[in-house]
Amino acid sequence: MTRLRLVLGDQLTRDVASLRGYAAGDVVVMAEVVGEATYVKHHKQKIVFVLSAMRHFADELRADGIAVDYIRLDDPDNSGSIAGELQRAVARHRPVELIVTAPGEWRLLADFKALDLRIPIDIREDERFFATTARFAAWAEGRKVLRMEFFYREMRRETNLLMEGDVPAGGQWNYDHDNRKRLPKSQALPPHFGYAPDRITQDVIALVQDRFADHFGDLDGFEWAVTRKDALRSLDDFLIHALPNFGKYQDAMASGEPFVFHAVISPYLNAGLLTACEVCIAAEREYIERRAPLNAVEGFIRQILGWREYVRGVYWLKMPDYAETNALNATRPLPWLYWSGETDMHCMAEAIGQTRRTAYSHHIQRLMVTGNFALLAGIAPKEIAEWYLVVYADAFEWVELPNVQGMSQFADGGLLASKPYASSGAYIDRMSDFCDSCAYDVKLKSGPKACPFNFLYWAFLIRNAATLRNSQRMAMPYRTLAGWDEGRKAAITAEAEAFLDGLATE
Ligand code: FAD
Ligand code: SF4
Repeated sequence: MTRLRLVLGDQLTRDVASLRGYAAGDVVVMAEVVGEATYVKHHKQKIVFVLSAMRHFADELRADGIAVDYIRLDDPDNSGSIAGELQRAVARHRPVELIVTAPGEWRLLADFKALDLRIPIDIREDERFFATTARFAAWAEGRKVLRMEFFYREMRRETNLLMEGDVPAGGQWNYDHDNRKRLPKSQALPPHFGYAPDRITQDVIALVQDRFADHFGDLDGFEWAVTRKDALRSLDDFLIHALPNFGKYQDAMASGEPFVFHAVISPYLNAGLLTACEVCIAAEREYIERRAPLNAVEGFIRQILGWREYVRGVYWLKMPDYAETNALNATRPLPWLYWSGETDMHCMAEAIGQTRRTAYSHHIQRLMVTGNFALLAGIAPKEIAEWYLVVYADAFEWVELPNVQGMSQFADGGLLASKPYASSGAYIDRMSDFCDSCAYDVKLKSGPKACPFNFLYWAFLIRNAATLRNSQRMAMPYRTLAGWDEGRKAAITAEAEAFLDGLATE
């Protein structure tokens, strides 16, 4: 009596729900399908990461005596879709049941629900999160705004992470006031260890180069871990070398330094090579054993236990409508510089250049450089959301979309963020050395040499005054704006429009 057990490319965890209760005679099906690699044109490194990690995972399962039916991308009979491969697998194995773990995308879940395979389909909850989707929905019930901080506190209590009895370790829930420092020039940075591609990864690199040559991103220099063993090594390296300074320099940016003190583990968490629970427990141990300070450990755990769980909850609560939100009516097409990286704005060139080279950039670059620019420029949320889904190795829709629509673009009208993350060049100047070597002058507010973030910021506030002016958290800039006469407002709006109209879109 065969049961077919599906494992998707972001479900590479040994005790993922669909593998539970595996018995002799069952078959695990894993499929590389062109549809998933191309429904948006993912960064080449992201495709290599997922396919190579899948191939390694299948080998590990086989080494443990588990039967795996693995369909490669270049299999001549490959149908190109998950649904098609499931049909073929059912015809091959004649199973009595299909067992799947709920996928991380609304689109795929809808596909699974619509599948007609003439056998029962058991769609199991993905249990690799601290909170189930039902748990999050229960928390959200009846709340007008869904603030992460309150959800996070409940998660701390429920998991007992960084708790001393009923109170948070150190007496406070949040140590952000000790964080957000600029990186001093003399500050040594932790080493970043990569992994040379093994034979399996080299094969996948050749395949991706051949099949997806027109996708964004470089393949040279691919150095992501593709096994759990190496992902665990990356976690250990982070705990030893970077975690102690993670909090302090969490928001800092530096030219030529993509990683700073960040963990660089999000693709491993999202694909299943690491679990959120083990990562948080490992970080907590560094605090308990006094190797890392509380502000660093709390800040790090909040990202995973707080933000990561919270955005997932919002995604499943609000989809599919969430993807359509556009509270600021932003309609501008995405400028070509997001793909080419060719721009005189040094901060943008840095963030996009390293994204092309590594399929990574850290949170503040995503939020306050590329995200901030798109917000100020009024880029259509769908266009910028697709860009983020394409370019990062960690981009899976359940985590990417709320971060873009909600946190970065304010497209959900403030459900997720209490105010738009909009800022002039001053923020980037404060948190980085980018402005020191930029063609623009961050101190200038207008004119051909003025930092574009400056005039775009004021034009953004003017354009969105009807929606934003009454928000308490936006009171300060709108008070400033109240002192401007109409002529000054029209001039800055015209300058911003002219700059944006001058950006190529293809
Ligand atoms: P660290 O800074 O070291 O943080 C540790 C871990 O915390 C991360 O690995 C990640 O799992 C988690 N985390 C941190 N911030 C967030 C957050 N806001 N939401 C969810 N998890 C978080 N993260 C993704 O995993 N996939 C995405 O597609 C993605 N898209 C983003 C788009 C935008 C516009 C923004 C502003 C943020 C996005 N993030 C996304 C969140 C965050 O930027 C990345 O998780 C982080 O940069 C990954 O690098 P790291 O592992 O070095 O993280
Ligand atoms: Fe970016 Fe403006 Fe600074 Fe240049 S001057 S790096 S555009 S913030």
